[in-house]
Amino acid sequence: MRYIKKQDHEPDCLTKFKQEFLEWKRKDDPQWEFSKLDWDDFKNPHKAELLNVLLKEQGYICCYCGRRISSSHNSHIEHLKPKSKSRSPSYADLVVTYTNLLASCNGYTEEQELEYKEKLKQKRDTPKPAQEFCGAKKGEWYDDNLTVSPLIENCAEYFTYTAAGEIRSANITPIMKKAADQTIIQLGLHNEKLIRERKKVIQDTLKHILIKQFSSQELQKLIQGYDKLDNQGEYVRFCAVVLSFLKQEYSVKKKSGL
Ligand SMILES: [Zn+2]
Repeated sequence: MRYIKKQDHEPDCLTKFKQEFLEWKRKDDPQWEFSKLDWDDFKNPHKAELLNVLLKEQGYICCYCGRRISSSHNSHIEHLKPKSKSRSPSYADLVVTYTNLLASCNGYTEEQELEYKEKLKQKRDTPKPAQEFCGAKKGEWYDDNLTVSPLIENCAEYFTYTAAGEIRSANITPIMKKAADQTIIQLGLHNEKLIRERKKVIQDTLKHILIKQFSSQELQKLIQGYDKLDNQGEYVRFCAVVLSFLKQEYSVKKKSGL
């Protein structure tokens, strides 16, 4: 998980939608509030514009798992605090609050997506792949004490990864560990398909480090590179995972004075 820095101001497309919709609704009901909004009433072009803003501010990676997301085909607008009106406590008043909105992947891999599209050609009512991780898996779960949110500046420090691609709670305080463990379960971050994708990225990184025999100074440069957006405004997919490995390697080298 990588920290997402929200802009100081709400994006214009969201402000515009809220102004227009509120004006329209209040003609009939002067007391109408956004907590009553049906999410499906938030439509394009404003919805598509907002998703683009969120994708851009996240460097085109999923807010939870770090997989590449690029458009409405492989991502959606995610409510960090769930939009359900019936939930207790309810966060329905945050349904169109910018700081509660993130871009999440759809919870299945590109392979599953391709397989689905192929099947769809033959059978029109082919069901979409099961959503096994991230926003759709999380559903209505949110816990003030246990949710590790990508809006927490040090969110990446809650997690560590094995060379086999598994995710674990990091060696941190008991409270942070409890939160990390719950977040892994509730977001499905231990999903086997995610593990496979992370393993590939980790193995490639490790191979690169071993071949080049980087010094601690060179590793530091590499870390700075992975921490930045590239020329296309994108983060490397799973960059938080790669950074976690590089930082471990850096601290080993630094301790041995290399
Ligand atoms: Zn994801």
